[in-house]
Amino acid sequence: MKPFSKILAAIDFSENSECAFDLALTLATQFSAELTIVHVINEPVDLRGFYVPHISFEQLEKEIEESAVKMMETFCQSKLKGFANYKTAIVTGIPYDEIIAAAERIDASLIVLGTHGRTGLDRILFGSTAERVVRSAACPVLTVRLPVT
Ligand code: AMP
Repeated sequence: MKPFSKILAAIDFSENSECAFDLALTLATQFSAELTIVHVINEPVDLRGFYVPHISFEQLEKEIEESAVKMMETFCQSKLKGFANYKTAIVTGIPYDEIIAAAERIDASLIVLGTHGRTGLDRILFGSTAERVVRSAACPVLTVRLPVT
């Protein structure tokens, strides 16, 4: 088995993924691994100006990307104090597909994600990202549940 030299943490900015991230950071520190933090902007289903013709698709896409970059910066500032061996990636697409593709691109030795994400409804409609990543990833996957209080 490959040592944990490259860890990918998938975050959707939910409490659950933050909890998973904390563990990914602990592991990256202990294994002196490089940490890649990935956020996937969910592929818009139909945002091509049909419902909101006064906003162009390009404008909407640009605003979504800018907002995602800011969220990632804020997240890194608050979480990564002192840890410098990291990269971030913001990609657009279907979360489980993009998480797996990013893991392959960086040759990840471990993927860390939460068991639940941001929206309950998405999950009901589109299924579990965690489940799909576990099923298809070529490397080990660690799923982290929020502690029960
Ligand atoms: P889910 O199965 O969709 O409820 O989400 C489970 C976990 O997958 C989350 O806690 C995140 O770690 C990861 N995840 C879900 N959606 C995304 C996304 N858009 N970008 C990055 N990671 C995600």
